[in-house]
Amino acid sequence: MRGAGPAAPSVGRVAAGPHPGAAEGRPERPAAVGTAHVVLEAVGKTFRRAGRRTVAISGVSLRVAAGELVCLLGPSGCGKSTLLRIVAGALECDEGSVLVGGQAVAGPAPDRGMLFQSPMLFPWLTTRKNVLFGPKAQRAAGADERDDPELDAETEAILATVGLAGFSDAFPHELSGGMQHRAAFARAMVTRPSLLLMDEPFGALDAITRVRMHEFLLRMWERYRITIIFVTHDIEEAVMLGDRVAVMGGRPPGIREVIDVPLHRPRQAADADTAGFLAVKRRIRAALTA
Ligand code: ADP
Ligand code: MG
Repeated sequence: MRGAGPAAPSVGRVAAGPHPGAAEGRPERPAAVGTAHVVLEAVGKTFRRAGRRTVAISGVSLRVAAGELVCLLGPSGCGKSTLLRIVAGALECDEGSVLVGGQAVAGPAPDRGMLFQSPMLFPWLTTRKNVLFGPKAQRAAGADERDDPELDAETEAILATVGLAGFSDAFPHELSGGMQHRAAFARAMVTRPSLLLMDEPFGALDAITRVRMHEFLLRMWERYRITIIFVTHDIEEAVMLGDRVAVMGGRPPGIREVIDVPLHRPRQAADADTAGFLAVKRRIRAALTA
């Protein structure tokens, strides 16, 4: 169990895939960064285009523990997406090193799921087929050993977990915005990632749906015990979700400060009105404007 030293979930255990329903009794606070799942050391990336250089990020060092939820917070253009894409293996850094589960990142892998502002479901596929698409493609490439009955059972279980059991045969246009995001989450989880990278996933949702999605994400995080790196430019969202918030910005852009969020778990929307919550927001705002 987290916070209990040696019993904290090891990267190896997590990498073997989440254990649906096996996450009862999550402790309130995360372990101090013990079993680091993600290790960034002095990561830098400079884009060069038509003779122009843009330093997107510089000197970024961060350790994220297995099962931790860390938010990357900062204004537009401070390199959040660049950093996330480097961890995903979609982009190569040109300085420093990136380890995930103790291995140097060398391209995308099914062990790392990614979610974006747009749910990006295939409009011509039902919810179930959207979820099954990834594992079937991986199986065709020899990277998923599950047979059809096993995949079908897991898909139905995940769809039930995300509250879409009754919508397996619906097409994306028949789902609300929040439901589409839950379907995208199901699609990400069916490949059993141990690390989920989320890039402003709820940025386009209305405020009420967004609050529901925060509660949904926290429930799913508790249940699957995955590590999450969540990008946002919204201070309140970062405090609601994060164990820690890495405040980004500056010139050249990097991590200015990593702020602990000492609020109890599980959290709910109403927690945003508490004095403790406001105090963390104030600290983060000060770090952003420092
Ligand atoms: P954020 O996600 O925080 O808004 P980004 O990581 O998208 O920031 O971008 C950081 C900086 O890198 C910005 O100045 C952006 O214009 C630049 N940048 C991002 N991707 C590219 C690219 N493919 N080519 C050139 N510049 C880029
Ligand atoms: Mg971005």
